[in-house]
Amino acid sequence: MKEIILVKYGEIILKGGNRPKFEKILIQNIADAIKNIAETRITIAQATIYIEVKDEELLDVVCERLSLVFGIVSVTRAAVCEKTLESIKETALTYCGADLKPGRKFKVEAKRSDKKFPLNSVELSIEVGGYLHEACEGLVVDVHNPEVTVQVEVRDKHSFVYCRENRLRGQGGMPIGTGGKSTLLLSGGIDSPVAGHMIAKRGIELDAINFFSFPYTSERAKEKVIELASIIARYTSKINLYIVPFTDIQLAIRDNCPEEHMTLIMRRFMMKISEILAKKHKSQALVTGESAGQVASQTLAALDVTNSVVDMPVLRPLIGMDKTEIIERAHAIDTFETSILPYEDCCTVFTPKHPTTNPKRELVERSEKRLDVDALINAAVEGVEKIEVYPKL
Ligand code: ATP
Ligand code: MG
Repeated sequence: MKEIILVKYGEIILKGGNRPKFEKILIQNIADAIKNIAETRITIAQATIYIEVKDEELLDVVCERLSLVFGIVSVTRAAVCEKTLESIKETALTYCGADLKPGRKFKVEAKRSDKKFPLNSVELSIEVGGYLHEACEGLVVDVHNPEVTVQVEVRDKHSFVYCRENRLRGQGGMPIGTGGKSTLLLSGGIDSPVAGHMIAKRGIELDAINFFSFPYTSERAKEKVIELASIIARYTSKINLYIVPFTDIQLAIRDNCPEEHMTLIMRRFMMKISEILAKKHKSQALVTGESAGQVASQTLAALDVTNSVVDMPVLRPLIGMDKTEIIERAHAIDTFETSILPYEDCCTVFTPKHPTTNPKRELVERSEKRLDVDALINAAVEGVEKIEVYPKL
């Protein structure tokens, strides 16, 4: 029996005249995601992408990989059969038989997009359902609360049969490359990787920037950031990670600025440098993992102080989320375990004991004037190291 992978996608279907453009990008992203896993043939028809896998042993691995590609709503293995009632019945029995155990509640749901097929959807469901009910002992029909749904799709060239419960849920969202490009400020913490995933999910390509204070932060801390980027890259494909040398800036702040403004001034430097790099690399927005009120530098007054140095959109997808919700997402996208590895981040090294929660912009600006801001920024930008990070296997 021949098997194929059926990929269903969501929001793209609503794109009207732009739909073919979005579909083309999704197909390209799918091809990129699986090119090193298996030899495949990808086709598209009637809002479904079909993937034939030459070596059928690899079907599950390909499905798993596809479940990480943005834009896909579900991925399923399906049996391919002739467009005859006989063939559909036999295939349903052989392919789904193992799931149709005695006592199980089941139903058949048929769809026919080929209106020339002699039975309509309801008639086909009844025919196949009756056949399976007779063939499998002890099976119970329950159309409202089935434990097993045998799905039959009669399409233009073939029919497909699968158990709906065996489908993998996709990420949803929009295909990467349909929404422009943004730059993620990626620390080694829990929040920023989640923020990056959320923005990328809307089809937005990501660059990443990390501020690195060697030797106050170790090589292992840098490895951790690279690892986090490689987990995010599973969803986005390759990410360009820019490592910015931040030690001189942090030392200058520590030695010259009032302690209560240290964090805010440091964050203003991060934002300004990120904006410069983003513009240089044709990125249209910055992304941070800030969440309102989480720490002193994330009150609205503090966000105003840090936001005011940049002149481009700053996306903060976690702004209204609780830490517990963010942690749930970090688990779901598989960054949590890496994020909690105990290496120092540049912010934790120079943390003041009493940061202000209600800072005044003018006062922070006055403190910052004690530094040669432009020279410090130029030197940091000069020293940027670029790392191409590929998806973690
Ligand atoms: P995270 O868990 O993402 O580190 P956080 O709650 O620890 O966030 P902060 O340390 O105040 O918060 O940082 C707020 C945001 O600033 C981060 O979410 C991240 O986007 C950015 N950021 C902080 N430190 C760095 C860094 N070393 N390199 C790049 N971006 C950073
Ligand atoms: Mg942090």
